[in-house]
Amino acid sequence: MSDFYASAIPTNATWQPTPEAANEAEAYVWRVFPDPDGVQQEVTVEFYDRITAVDAGENLERITCPRCGSDIPVDWYSDLLEETEGEFDNLNVTVPCCSAPVPLDTLGFDWPCGFARFEIAVANPARAECQFNPDELTQLAIILGHPVRQILTHI
Ligand SMILES: [Zn+2]
Repeated sequence: MSDFYASAIPTNATWQPTPEAANEAEAYVWRVFPDPDGVQQEVTVEFYDRITAVDAGENLERITCPRCGSDIPVDWYSDLLEETEGEFDNLNVTVPCCSAPVPLDTLGFDWPCGFARFEIAVANPARAECQFNPDELTQLAIILGHPVRQILTHI
């Protein structure tokens, strides 16, 4: 059985909340993702030292270049993650299609992938609606103090 993660990350890859705001966000996530049986769900809060790839795992099917519109091989990205261990000091890369210098977070990822120094994730949600809904993302942004976006991952 694979694990499913619904993650919320700041829209700015370098931004981090205060520890207090992160604690409040974790409590909020447990409120909206109740797990009465307490068997399968986990909520994780991560502060990363460096910008860290939050990728769509098995769901990443297609990457497109924001400069020339070409498809970028998914293998190129997998190799990059392997080489960097998914950690970055900045997001500047040279894409293989047109050799343009492009920030990684401007590539078109399908499903979406993200890059962040903070992540709050629900693994294997117990409730029927397994994603954060738009209201919850708004509420998380208010609690954390910065807009967030959602990344969904199967691992
Ligand atoms: Zn290109």
